[in-house]
Amino acid sequence: MQLYNTLSAKEREALIEEAGKERLTISFYQYARIGNPQILRNHLFLAWNDMEVLGRIYVAHEGINAQLSVPAENFNVFKEHLDSIVFLENVRLNIAIEQDNKSFLKLKVKVRDKIVADGLNDDTFDVTNKGIHVGAEQFNELIEDENTVLVDMRNHYESEIGHFKNAITPDVDTFRDSLDIIEQDLAEHKEDKKLVMYCTGGIRCEKASAYYKHKGFKNVYQLEGGIIEYTRQVREKQLENKFLGKNFVFDHRRGERISEDVIAHCHQCGKPCDTHVNCANEACHLLFIQCEECAEKMNNCCSVDCMEVHALPYEEQKELRKGKGASNKIFKKGRSPVLKYKK
Ligand SMILES: [Zn+2]
Ligand SMILES: [Zn+2]
Repeated sequence: MQLYNTLSAKEREALIEEAGKERLTISFYQYARIGNPQILRNHLFLAWNDMEVLGRIYVAHEGINAQLSVPAENFNVFKEHLDSIVFLENVRLNIAIEQDNKSFLKLKVKVRDKIVADGLNDDTFDVTNKGIHVGAEQFNELIEDENTVLVDMRNHYESEIGHFKNAITPDVDTFRDSLDIIEQDLAEHKEDKKLVMYCTGGIRCEKASAYYKHKGFKNVYQLEGGIIEYTRQVREKQLENKFLGKNFVFDHRRGERISEDVIAHCHQCGKPCDTHVNCANEACHLLFIQCEECAEKMNNCCSVDCMEVHALPYEEQKELRKGKGASNKIFKKGRSPVLKYKK
C-alpha cells in the first residue's frame, strides 16, 4: 500500500506501468461543506461510470468518503477529474495495486447523512475548520514539547497494542466517548497547551480537531494521514520512530507491527502478547488478545463456556444460536468479564 499527496506525471506513469492491466484500488476522504450532495453524487456517478470505476462512495453534507478501484490505464483521467473538483484537488490518495481485481463489483455512489458513523450530531460546528496538519518530522518535534498534550483518538482495543510514547489513550469504546473525556480532562488548558492528536489513517482527527476548535481549544494539531502515513514517512526519510508496538488495522491482519515493542498482555494469562483474535465460538466472536499457549489450552476460545459450545457439532451450535439474532454482538469489542486481564 502506498499513499500519495500529489503525484507527479512521472510517478503516475510508473504506477500505471507497474499495474499493467490491473486495477488500482484507491481510497480517500475529505471533509467539506457540500450544499447539495445529490448533485455531486450524480456528477461523480456519470463521470466515474465512464471511466469504469467500481466501488462504494458515500457523499454527505459533511464531505466524501470513497473506496474504489479504477483500471490503471484510466488513472490519469480519473486523477485529472478529481483535481477539477475544488475540494478534491490534491486530496491524499491511498493507492494499492489489486491483484485479484475483485475488490468491487459495482459502482455505488450513495448520499448519506454522514461519511463516517461517528455518533456526533452537532451540526453547529464547521467540519472544515480543522487543526493544523503535521507530517512525521514536525509531529516528532511537537510531541517532545512540554506544552504538548498528545491524544490517541482511537478506541481502547486499538491503542492497547500500540500507541505513541506519552500519548493519552482514553479507555473508551467509541470515538464519541473519547471526545467528551478529553474535553473534560483538558478543560483548563484550552488556551495554553498544544493539543496534538492522531488516529489510524487521519479521518477521525479531521472531525475531532474541528470539534475541539469549536469547543474553544486554541492550538490544535493533527497527524496527517495518521499512523499509516507516519510510518511510511519515517521509513522513507529514516526518521526516529516514536510509535510503540502495532498499528491496529481493520482487515484480517488486525495489526501491523511498527516497532518490536510488545506493550499489551494476553487477556487470559497476563503474559506479554499483542495478538488479537476472535473467539472461535461463532456465537461469541469476542475480539481479545490471546497468546499461543492460551489459544491451545482454550481451543481458541475466550471462556470455558465458549469452549463447550465450540466443541459441539456444527448443527447443534446453529440450533443454539437460533432466535438470538445479533448474538455475536452481545459482547463489546475487546471487553468481557470472563477475561482475567481485561475487564
Ligand atoms: Zn496467555
Ligand atoms: Zn467466547
